[in-house]
Amino acid sequence: MILTDTHTHLYSEAFNEDRTEVVQRAIDNNIKRFFIPAIDSDTTQAMYDLEKQFPEHMYLMMGLHPTSVSETVEQELKHVEEELAKRTFYAVGEIGIDLYWDKGFFEAQRKAFKHQIKLAKKYKLPIVIHCREAFDEIFEVLEEEKGEDLCGIFHCFTGTKSQAEQAIRYNMKLGIGGVVTFKNGKIDQFINEIDLKHIVLETDSPYLAPKPYRGKRNESLYILKVAEKLSELYGISLEEIARQTTQNSKDVFGI
Ligand SMILES: [Zn+2]
Repeated sequence: MILTDTHTHLYSEAFNEDRTEVVQRAIDNNIKRFFIPAIDSDTTQAMYDLEKQFPEHMYLMMGLHPTSVSETVEQELKHVEEELAKRTFYAVGEIGIDLYWDKGFFEAQRKAFKHQIKLAKKYKLPIVIHCREAFDEIFEVLEEEKGEDLCGIFHCFTGTKSQAEQAIRYNMKLGIGGVVTFKNGKIDQFINEIDLKHIVLETDSPYLAPKPYRGKRNESLYILKVAEKLSELYGISLEEIARQTTQNSKDVFGI
């Protein structure tokens, strides 16, 4: 059995004390593939260091996170472009729109999102979308950019069933993480009506730890709790959840 964590910030400072142990614990428990989303230029070196330490397990993305869109957006996008030109990445991410913290940079976020979708098309890469309180705004951009040449993952999907179906129509898989284990997470009520071929697993560690670790630091090992919950909801074995979601991750990332 092989599990794939399609979204984990293992380079985060939250793991500075015990990063090697955290990654090894996951690997020893069948979580062998880690897809690493970028935030901004401040995190690039830490991602490269992580890849150097575990070259057979880490797959890096490049992109500018919407909450890092500010006055420096031009410089930051230039950094993304330079890195993409330099070496191999497996997705442009995480990118998108976040209207939870700060609505002031909405227009800049929208532009940066659209620009980075164009970069993904140029390099024939999938996109990994961060969406917080911005479904309509994200869908509006996807409607403009949709097509055979665009696919990806709606990371940390927490929308409704109809939003799930809409995302799927735009060639997006749904990244399912700790929220599916939450009592008030809502997606547990309909997720088994969505064909499993559209689902990938993620932790978003160090954030959003699943039950029973909710509120604590999350780590990739806990993806097992997400897989167990899906196994219960879909009424199929953990092994089948692992097999199908890992295959889905290969279909998106091409590796
Ligand atoms: Zn993330």
